[in-house]
Amino acid sequence: MVGGGPAGLATAIAARRHGLSVVLADGAVPPIDKPCGEGLMPDGVEALRDLGVTIPEGEAYPFRGIRFVSDGKRAEAEFPRGSAYGIRRTHLHRVLLDHAAACGVRLLWQAAVTALHPEGALVTGELVRARWVVGADGASSRVRGWAKLDQHELDAPRKKNRRFGFRRHYRVAPWTDFMELHWGRHCQIYVTPVSREEVCLALVSSSSKLRLRIDDALGEFPELSERLKDAEPASSERGAITVTRKLRRVYRGRTVLVGDASGGVDAITGEGICLGFRQAVLLGDCLASGDLARYQKGHRTLLRRPTLMARMMLFMAEHSHLRQRTMQVFQSSPQSFAGMLAMHVGEGSTRDHISNGIAVGWELLKA
Ligand SMILES: Cc1cc2nc3c(=O)[nH]c(=O)nc-3n(C[C@H](O)[C@H](O)[C@H](O)COP(=O)(O)OP(=O)(O)OC[C@H]3O[C@@H](n4cnc5c(N)ncnc54)[C@H](O)[C@@H]3O)c2cc1C
Repeated sequence: MVGGGPAGLATAIAARRHGLSVVLADGAVPPIDKPCGEGLMPDGVEALRDLGVTIPEGEAYPFRGIRFVSDGKRAEAEFPRGSAYGIRRTHLHRVLLDHAAACGVRLLWQAAVTALHPEGALVTGELVRARWVVGADGASSRVRGWAKLDQHELDAPRKKNRRFGFRRHYRVAPWTDFMELHWGRHCQIYVTPVSREEVCLALVSSSSKLRLRIDDALGEFPELSERLKDAEPASSERGAITVTRKLRRVYRGRTVLVGDASGGVDAITGEGICLGFRQAVLLGDCLASGDLARYQKGHRTLLRRPTLMARMMLFMAEHSHLRQRTMQVFQSSPQSFAGMLAMHVGEGSTRDHISNGIAVGWELLKA
């Protein structure tokens, strides 16, 4: 396993549950932090449960739904089923790492993988023999390049598909048990409660606004600024790029990709980690049966819904007039927002989603 982020650790656990022996190598030192909105949606929590991992009380803060705030309008809905958590990346990493160690994954830290080898991979220059090599090395995956899977990008990460994210924690009691997404003219900020005395704030903006940082962006959000005015920052501001990427193939020979390495959706969806966990469950099964073609097929299916949600949300982000009208519809018809949230978290039937989509479209025409 190349990379011990959430997707790598989850895949390692999944593979161990099928009786495979697993060596995981990561160049970093745990617990690994990463700029992130730190929201774990109910489908991600469920995928973790499928791997036998439960999040201990006190490590995370449960939240019960999503709230959109835009141009003075608000829309909110509870998740139809299951619980979601705000959890600091370092806590999530520790929980996964402890579980992986307990189930017998051999963990190598400060151990960068430097190349693939016909019999496995080179870890800090030494050959580790392996039947399979899994690239779980994140959005800028080198494994993807080494295995020439980059050449098969369906949705090449053009400038348009790259956006910029920053994250900072604030010491303040959460004012809500919803994850809030605040829409601004040039950016979006989401706020996730991560403990009884801390919230995580993540800013995402497009490339032309590269210089937009959290303090500048907050000026656009008076309500949020007011809430945070006396709150001390509890971490430094850290940035990352979020990329929308879809690959034609996610394996070649004995090398296979998972998590952000295998493509991903914009951070605005808050879905990246969940997607990685769901892929991990599937990949563990497919590695055990040696059927990577099945993984590729299932991988495509898993990516479909988050990709659709990301497109819709980015469209709203880019078209403020449409966003205002959509918010008006969501505010006056809470069930339409609940229907959209159900689709986001993979609940409800396709028929429900289509009829909700038609109803929203009709209301938009009337608005
Ligand atoms: C601003 C922002 C906000 C986000 N908010 C959310 C959110 O609220 N909810 C959500 O679910 N997702 C969110 N995401 C997405 C989420 O952060 C990613 O989808 C997730 O981190 C992907 O996990 P991963 O394990 O695939 O990759 P990573 O977390 O990037 O882990 C990759 C690991 O590979 C290691 N590595 C890299 N190269 C090598 C090498 N050569 N050898 C060994 N190790 C290597 C790295 O050290 C790292 O530990 C957000 C992303 C951004 C940018």
